Amino acid sequence: MNSTPPLNLNAMSKRNRHYLLLILVLGGALVFTKILYDYAEQTLRHEVLLAHQQQTQSKIQSLIKEQKSASMTLTLSFAENPLVQRLLVFQNDGRNAEKISRMVERINDQSAFKDLWVQLIDLKGRSIYRSWTDKTGDNLSLIRSEINDLLKMPRTHQVISVGKFTVSFKSIMPVMDDSQRLLGLLEVITHFTPLTQSLQRETGIESVLLTDKRFRSQLTKAITGEFIEDYYVTNEDVSPTLIDVIQEAGVSSLLKIDGYRTVGPYVLTRIPIENSRHEVLGQWLTFTPLSQINFSQTTWVLQKYLVISVGTILLLILAFTIYMSKSESEQKKLYYRQIIDSVSDIIYISNYKQIVDVNKHFFGFFSDFETVKEFLQKYNCVCDLFEEEEGFLHRNMDGLYWLDYVMAHPEKRHKAKIMKAGEAHVFLVKVKRMRGIKEVLYNVLMQDITQIEAYEKELKILSVTDELTGAGNRLACNQALEREIIRSRRYQKKLSLVLFDLDHFKNINDSFGHDVGDQVLIAVTAEVKRLLRDTDVLCRFGGEEFLIVMPETTSQDAADTAERLRTAITSLTAVDVPVQVTVSFGVAELTRWDTEYTLLKRVDMALYQAKENGRNRVELAE
Ligand code: GH3
Ligand code: MG
Ligand code: MG
Repeated sequence: MNSTPPLNLNAMSKRNRHYLLLILVLGGALVFTKILYDYAEQTLRHEVLLAHQQQTQSKIQSLIKEQKSASMTLTLSFAENPLVQRLLVFQNDGRNAEKISRMVERINDQSAFKDLWVQLIDLKGRSIYRSWTDKTGDNLSLIRSEINDLLKMPRTHQVISVGKFTVSFKSIMPVMDDSQRLLGLLEVITHFTPLTQSLQRETGIESVLLTDKRFRSQLTKAITGEFIEDYYVTNEDVSPTLIDVIQEAGVSSLLKIDGYRTVGPYVLTRIPIENSRHEVLGQWLTFTPLSQINFSQTTWVLQKYLVISVGTILLLILAFTIYMSKSESEQKKLYYRQIIDSVSDIIYISNYKQIVDVNKHFFGFFSDFETVKEFLQKYNCVCDLFEEEEGFLHRNMDGLYWLDYVMAHPEKRHKAKIMKAGEAHVFLVKVKRMRGIKEVLYNVLMQDITQIEAYEKELKILSVTDELTGAGNRLACNQALEREIIRSRRYQKKLSLVLFDLDHFKNINDSFGHDVGDQVLIAVTAEVKRLLRDTDVLCRFGGEEFLIVMPETTSQDAADTAERLRTAITSLTAVDVPVQVTVSFGVAELTRWDTEYTLLKRVDMALYQAKENGRNRVELAE
């Protein structure tokens, strides 16, 4: 059966979640950018149009100011003219009037004042000369209060006012003779059309000047003759298109313009025309074709904005990606950290020279320290703590640094012994080489096997010990026999065996019970053990039969020992045994022809012989 690897649904959905999040972030960023872009565009357009409106207004203010000062200058020069003075003195001098008219005509022809009007008023307030009409003689002081005032208190005077013809600038100045006697007043009247014309010429902005509707009835001889909703169209250069635009939008709506308003293809602004008493006489509406407004700076700013936005989004993606991979690797790190911290063995990472990281249990064992830094202040290496003992790791092994030694011998069980609070701890040490980011790292795992070692030792002893007597068991007999035969052959040393068996033991069991029989076995074993050398190995061969393996011992010496044992056992007192116990011994020495089997056979034969020969005796094998 072929097995497919299990799908990692968790990881998959997690990645999908990340992508979904990325798409959401990107989408959000795009929508946000679009909103911001539109807002920025609107704001910038608004600012450009606002600036345009302000420029237009100040341009118009300066045009009006220029007009005023120019007409004042003209008024001054007329007032100083002897022709004017003479006409005021000799009022019906037709030739004088003609000369003045020609002068006015010339000025109108050659200057910007296309429709300059001049009027002379005598001391009684009567108009005695008008450059634009022959009609004279009417008394102005009756209808214009300022005329009376100026005749009483002669001075220069300038107004914007609405007459029966139109709205105009009026500059009035007293005319004096050489001895500073007042002769009359000179009035120069200029109109708005030259202003709207120069505005269009200089800036391309068209204008419609609307005189307020409250002057409708007064304007009996309106020059242009054009009205929109009773508002008099004051300037003569108005194109019919603009009239249409105004009519469509409605005058009252346009009069509410505050700042600017876009109407059709135009941007409109509104400047009120006021007299010196700040009464609004009319409205100057300007019409700038939108196509003429320079939005290029807006475009540039927007382009810059767009570049910044795209850059920001890219940065956002980059940050997101970094965050994602970082959080993933952080998570992985955390994951592995939790794993290695959950292990109850010591794990540490070394860069060969120094410890670079340790798990939690490291400090569980090296509890005097809380950080790696603290540990390194006292020790260079964990190996500084290794006990230099046979069978355990120490700093240098066979000319190799211990880390290299452990890695060079993967087949061996490497143990290290470390003393802590007077107790020896044994560790099983494993070392693995790993590839770190900057350098090769060594992963050292130290498993505390102190208890396991102790158990093993105990188990080993138990496995070769006879439970009842504490002597070696049959396995111990076999191991000792095998080992000592090999050693004896290798070092050309003698080896003897003593096999002994309790005499008529059955009777003891029968008479005193099995428990007492056991006690007898224990007592005899203890007695034998007491009398043997350390190098002799005593083990229970079976039932009430025991074998003693005696290295470096001749059969004679073994027989002597057996004899001593026999005597001692016979002498065991009632404290240890209920009745006198005797034992029969067989003794045999290893010959060069012997195998383990023949040696055992021969010693068994000797024992048999001892039994045969009456028991409680020692017999040497052939
Ligand atoms: P012999 O002198 O010929 O050796 O006579 P014996 O009675 O000692 O020999 P036999 O083989 O007839 O009997 C051995 C007895 O030892 C039989 C058995 O029940 C007893 N025995 C063996 N192992 C133990 C033990 O662990 N405890 C006790 N109490 N008796 C044991
Ligand atoms: Mg027996
Ligand atoms: Mg027996």
